[in-house]
Amino acid sequence: MGEKSTIHEAVEEQFRCYMIANGMRQTKERYAILHAIYDIEGTFTIEDLQQTMQDRRFHVSTGTLYLTTQLLVQANLLIRHPFSSSAAIFERIVDDRPRSYQICSHCHRITRIKSKELAVSLENYHPRSFSISHRIVYVYGTCTSCNRALHKRLRLALKQQ
Ligand SMILES: [Zn+2]
Repeated sequence: MGEKSTIHEAVEEQFRCYMIANGMRQTKERYAILHAIYDIEGTFTIEDLQQTMQDRRFHVSTGTLYLTTQLLVQANLLIRHPFSSSAAIFERIVDDRPRSYQICSHCHRITRIKSKELAVSLENYHPRSFSISHRIVYVYGTCTSCNRALHKRLRLALKQQ
C-alpha cells in the first residue's frame, strides 16, 4: 500500500513537471489516466485502458486516451512497445531495472525474459552523450506453440504434394 502510493506520488510529480515545462494544461483527466495506467500490471492496449477507466466510472474519449498515452511516453513515464501487432501495446515504468522481452513474430505473444546476465550487461551500459530513461531489449522469434503449428502445417502440406 505504502509503496504503491509512493510510486503514484512520484509519477504524478514527474508528469506535473513535464506538463509545466511544456506549457501544457494539467487536467483531471490526464492525472486520472496516469493513475489508472500505474494500476495496470504488465502490458496493456488502449482498449484495456478504456475498460479500466470505465470500471472506475471515469468517462474519457478514446482520443484523450491516445493523446495522454503519447504524452506519458514523451515524459518517460510509459513504454510504447514497438511490437508489430495491430494494437499499440503499452507498459508503465515502475522501476529503473532493465527489462527484456521475447516476442513471437507469429502470434505477437510477449514474455518477460528473466536473465541475470542480460540485466547486468544492460545495467553496465553507460553511453557518454545520451541520457538513458529505461533499458529494454527485445528478442524476436517463434514461440513453442507457433513452432508446433508451423511444423504441423508443413507436414500436412508435404503430404498433399
Ligand atoms: Zn507464437
